[in-house]
Amino acid sequence: MPTPILISEVGPRDGLQSIDRTLPTAVKCAWIDALVEAGITEIEVGSFVPAKLLPQLADTADVVAHARQHKGLTVAVLVPNAKGAEAALQAGAHKLTLPLSASETHSLKNLRRTHAQVLEEARTIAAMVKAAPCKAHFEGSVSTAFGCTLEGEVTEAKVVELAEALMAAGCDEVGLSDTTGYANPAQVRAVVRAVHAAIGPEHLTGLHLHNTRGLGLANVIAGLEVGITTFDASLAGLGGCPFAPGASGNIVTEDLAFMLEAMGYTTGINLEKLLNVRQILADALPGEPLYGFTPDAGLPLGFKQAA
Ligand code: ZN
Repeated sequence: MPTPILISEVGPRDGLQSIDRTLPTAVKCAWIDALVEAGITEIEVGSFVPAKLLPQLADTADVVAHARQHKGLTVAVLVPNAKGAEAALQAGAHKLTLPLSASETHSLKNLRRTHAQVLEEARTIAAMVKAAPCKAHFEGSVSTAFGCTLEGEVTEAKVVELAEALMAAGCDEVGLSDTTGYANPAQVRAVVRAVHAAIGPEHLTGLHLHNTRGLGLANVIAGLEVGITTFDASLAGLGGCPFAPGASGNIVTEDLAFMLEAMGYTTGINLEKLLNVRQILADALPGEPLYGFTPDAGLPLGFKQAA
């Protein structure tokens, strides 16, 4: 039996927050519809942050409402704090992700909160999620888990400590994010193994990887080797990387899906349909760089998907 792997599309959140232009709500919804049609089953559709900070994502509640109409789709959102979580639950999001930066300097700069303050928010959110009438899943994501642009090295011990703290705060699971694109495959294996040993493999199943230094897919292979079954990715690697011109932002959904399907994993994604979704972004964001090798080269002659 081929192993199922979940590709969680984060373009509507991570991709769009990295570009200046605001995509109209109708285009976001059409993009989401096309992704679902191509077989994507989890999409991070936005972030509940103040509109003055990220005007690109100010319509997240409307996008959640639209996305929820797709049966079988997990509608995920990012929440920076309890206030955001309240709005997310009200909108009916299925999955809430709270980032906790392993680098405290990054946490102060990004969320203006210390580790202790973010963990306090996590406890509040966990209680809200439990009390909410609709069932939701609460993930604590250790960001800058493989290195930080402000602090440099992030130790394995720090990541383990924060993963344990997030679980203790009431998260259902913990994810690891290579926010800065510093990770390498050996490090991915080591850090995932260490966190698995601390909180149990069932509580860390997902990685959020960027392709800043071209190691995104190599890091996916490393993750697969140590039992990771969910990978975040962004269609066309939307958003790019401000620190590395020419590099995509997140790993590219199209390349990731091709690699996994070619290796015999099942993603549930129809590659032909997925490659066509790109046109929506090309039309809506003229001039925006769209990344990915598979979309440019096309599928190999006679390529057949595993399922
Ligand atoms: Zn990211």
